[in-house]
Amino acid sequence: MALHSRKLSFTRPIMVSFAGILLSFILVAVFITLSQRSNFLNDYHKINGNFTHNLAVNYTESILRENDYILGRAATFFARNDRLNQTINTNPGEGLQVLMHLQNLMPTVSSISLADTQGHYLRAPEVLPTDKSKTFDARTRPWFIGQAEASTFSRYTRPYMDYFTGHPTVTLFKPVISPEGRLKGTLAFHLDLTSMGYTLRQMVAPVQGEFFIVERDGAVVLHPDTGALFMPYVSEALMDKMTSGEGHIYDPKSKTWFYYYSFTNPDWFVIYRVADSTLTEITRHETSIVGWGFALASLIIILFGLYLRHASRTVLMNIINAIKTGDVSTAPRLEAMLSHTIQSNKERELAYVRQATHDALTGCKNRRAFDSDIAELLNNHQPFALALVDIDNFKSINDTWGHLSGDIVLRNVAREGIQIMQPHNVSVYRYGGEEFAVIFRSELFGLSHELLETWRIAVEKRTWREEGLHVTFSAGLGEWHFEPLEQFIGTVDGALYTAKQQGKNRILRTSDN
Ligand code: GH3
Ligand code: MG
Ligand code: MG
Repeated sequence: MALHSRKLSFTRPIMVSFAGILLSFILVAVFITLSQRSNFLNDYHKINGNFTHNLAVNYTESILRENDYILGRAATFFARNDRLNQTINTNPGEGLQVLMHLQNLMPTVSSISLADTQGHYLRAPEVLPTDKSKTFDARTRPWFIGQAEASTFSRYTRPYMDYFTGHPTVTLFKPVISPEGRLKGTLAFHLDLTSMGYTLRQMVAPVQGEFFIVERDGAVVLHPDTGALFMPYVSEALMDKMTSGEGHIYDPKSKTWFYYYSFTNPDWFVIYRVADSTLTEITRHETSIVGWGFALASLIIILFGLYLRHASRTVLMNIINAIKTGDVSTAPRLEAMLSHTIQSNKERELAYVRQATHDALTGCKNRRAFDSDIAELLNNHQPFALALVDIDNFKSINDTWGHLSGDIVLRNVAREGIQIMQPHNVSVYRYGGEEFAVIFRSELFGLSHELLETWRIAVEKRTWREEGLHVTFSAGLGEWHFEPLEQFIGTVDGALYTAKQQGKNRILRTSDN
């Protein structure tokens, strides 16, 4: 069994094909998982970039622009005629009302200052005179404009602590310049960074991260947590890498992504920073779902491969079994054609065997079968009796009724003999042209003569279709007593010859001679 041909192996090509399928599937899976991973990462960069953009444009920039617009309009208002001087010096009571009205327009502006070039000022809401307010000099403030400047644009101070409230503040300020070009004073909107930071807290970030606004040098201007104000949150080296506009950069030192959006006036950056580990965790989670899906699919492919291998082996075994036994009832239905082929193969084989051992004309066993059966008995030293039967005057039957009728006689004489002998498991052989042989086993010695007699009488009594045809046979019968075969057959033939001599249509035993 160890010897087998690879060409006949069912399972080998199946396993090779399945391994191929599995390998290509795994390659595709790995490729897809990796590209999915980078897709996920890109998606999250886009989402985080959008969040930063919205935070900058929809929240910060709109507030700044609105304040800027009102500042421009108000500065123009105070620049006309003597309005600035009147508001601050002549009628500060009424002036305070005007400023309060202005302040109410802007929810992010916590207070407004209006100062003339000498340093006289009016602040709304009003500052009560205390020791502190007595020493206050508007000219020392970062928003105070002492000289007319080429630019009439509004500007922002750096964050500083408000003199009166002590709150971190950024001031948006603008020179008040008359239509004649004379500097009359400064109008300043103070933005309380603490209260602005509160509104930032209401923002919900897409992934866990920190968002805030820094100045060009990386110091925090606005943060949901006021404790972070003024702190250098982003290194200057990193700030330098942020080009104007928007984008994202990676800081390998802190392993952090920085999504940014830059303004020009003020020179601020909205920044949303997310730890790389956060993104890795998210993408790992998402790709692991895909990965597990592929792993499960691979497992199913492997199971199918193993099943196919097992099934093909079983079918192969069934086929081998069916070929061996010729029984196709156990073969699978699928192989109906194969089953049919096996069955007809077996039938053909049986027919060949029959052809090889039987005589076509008479249906008796042939001379070859006789020789091999006798040889087997001799080999086993099994005693047996042999009868040689010869049809009487057969030549004249042929001559009178024709060769075809002769054949019919041969066939019918044989059939009579077979019918009588078969029930006793005794074979009739066609020994020669019109001669038959019968072999009796030892246990039939007592019956052999009687059976031959029955046959002889049946043939003698038979009526034939051919008119006047009358058929008989003569036979010699003898038992083998371990003498050489040729000698034994000679004695049986001798008995037959004697029967012919004595007038045919009779059976003579060798012992009668
Ligand atoms: P006896 O009574 O002495 O046996 O005379 P016989 O005529 O039977 O003996 P013989 O041996 O002279 O003749 C046998 C004849 O049988 C010769 C042959 O033509 C004929 N024969 C042999 N085989 C066949 C056969 O298969 N078919 C036919 N029709 N005739 C056959
Ligand atoms: Mg003869
Ligand atoms: Mg004869």
